[in-house]
Amino acid sequence: MARPLFQALPGTRDILAPDSQRMRALVEVFAEEAELAGFGQIVPPMFEDIGVFTRIGDSTDIVTKELYDFEDNGGRRIALRPEFTASVCRAYVQSRPVPPWKAWYAGPAFRQEKAQKGRYRQFDQVGAEVIGSHDPDLDTELIAMAAGFYKRLGLTDVTLLVNTLGDKADRPGYLDALRTYFGEHLDALSEQSRTTLAINPLRVLDSKRPNDAEIVAGAPVLLDYISDDAAKAYGRVIDGLSTLSIPFVEAPRLVRGLDYYTRTTFEFASNALEAAQNAVGGGGRYDGLVADLGGPEDPGVGFALGVDRTLLACDAEGVFGAVVPTPDLFVVATTEGTEALALTQELRAEGWRVERAYDGRSMKAQMKAANKSGAPVALIVGESEATDGTVSVRPMGEGDQVVVPRPELIPQLKELLP
Ligand code: AMP
Repeated sequence: MARPLFQALPGTRDILAPDSQRMRALVEVFAEEAELAGFGQIVPPMFEDIGVFTRIGDSTDIVTKELYDFEDNGGRRIALRPEFTASVCRAYVQSRPVPPWKAWYAGPAFRQEKAQKGRYRQFDQVGAEVIGSHDPDLDTELIAMAAGFYKRLGLTDVTLLVNTLGDKADRPGYLDALRTYFGEHLDALSEQSRTTLAINPLRVLDSKRPNDAEIVAGAPVLLDYISDDAAKAYGRVIDGLSTLSIPFVEAPRLVRGLDYYTRTTFEFASNALEAAQNAVGGGGRYDGLVADLGGPEDPGVGFALGVDRTLLACDAEGVFGAVVPTPDLFVVATTEGTEALALTQELRAEGWRVERAYDGRSMKAQMKAANKSGAPVALIVGESEATDGTVSVRPMGEGDQVVVPRPELIPQLKELLP
C-alpha cells in the first residue's frame, strides 16, 4: 500500500472503535466512582495562558521542555494543558465555588515527550481534585477512589506507593541535607542528575537512571525532616488506608514529576507494564498552588490517572476487554424503493441496534453480511414483501422464517428480542 499523504504525528494516534468504546466505558466507570464520592465534573479549556502552567514549577520537564506553547492572534502566550490540576485551581480562583470543592475531569493532555509505547504527546487522563480542605481523610478518600476504580476495571497487579513531602517550611532543611548527600556522591551521579541537582535536588530522587538508583537508595528521607503537623497528617492517611484495607507500600523517596506537591504524595504502578512506563496514576497534596495562581491560601489534593496506560495495563492483565457490540437486527432489502431506509430508521427509533447493507448489493451478499454482523435476526424486504406490505423475519440461528404484516412487526419483534 502506498504511504498515505498524511499520518498522525509522532506521539499521537487515532483511537478507533472498539478501542474508543472501551475508552469511553472506562471514563463512565470513573465518572460513577467520582459521583458516588460527591464530585461534580469540570470541563476546563484545553489551552490556557501559559502562566497557569509555568506556576507548576520551573524545574519540571513538563514546563521547561514539554509544553506545547504558541502565540495567538492577540499576542497572548498560550499553552496546551500538560495536565489538569493547574487549570482546576485557576477555575477555583476564578469562580470561587464553596469549599471544599470536589471536581472530577476526563480528557486529553499534551506534552512534547519522546514518544514510545505508553508515552504519548497527546494522552488522556481522568482525575479528581478537592480544593479548600486540609483534612487528610480526603487524601485517603481520593486514594480509595482511585484504588476502587482500578479494582472495578479488574486490575489486580497495581501497587500503591505512598509518601509525604512535608510542608513548604520543611523543605529547605531537607534540600540542604540532599545537597550535602548528593554532593558527596557527585562523581557517581549521571550528568542529567548533576544538572537537576543544581536546580532542584528533590527531583534527583525521581531519576530512573540505573547508575543513580543506587545513590538515590541511600539518600536522606524527608520523613526525618518534617514538622509534627505534617507527620500527624501522614500518620492519619496511613491509618486510613489500613482501616479501608487498601494495600500500600511506603516509599520514603517517592517524589512526583511536578514541583507543587506538599504532604501526601502517591503513585499507582502497574506491575504488568514495563518499569519505565509503569506509572498508571498518581497525585497528592498541593497546598500552595491555589495561592500561586493568585487565589487564597486554600489547600488542594487530587490525582490524575493515565487512561492510555491504564488500558495497556488492562491488556497486560487480560481484563476490561473491548466490547464489540453486535446489532440486534439486520435489514436486508432488495427492492428499488426506500423500504430499507424507512424500516431501519423506524427500528432504531424503537431503541434497537440496527445494521443494513448499502450499494444495492445482491440478496446473497446481503444475507452474508447479515450473518457476519452477528445479528440474531434478519428482516427481509423483497419485491413480494414490498407489494404485500409485509416483512420476512428470519432468525439467523434456530427457527423458521415467518412473514409478518408490517403493522405487527414491531410488537412481534418486542416479543422475539430481549
Ligand atoms: P502526571 O500528571 O505526570 O502525574 O501523570 C499522571 C498519569 O498520566 C501518569 O501516571 C501516567 O499514567 C499518565 N501520563 C503522564 N504522561 C503521559 C504520557 N506522555 N503518555 C501517556 N500517559 C501519560
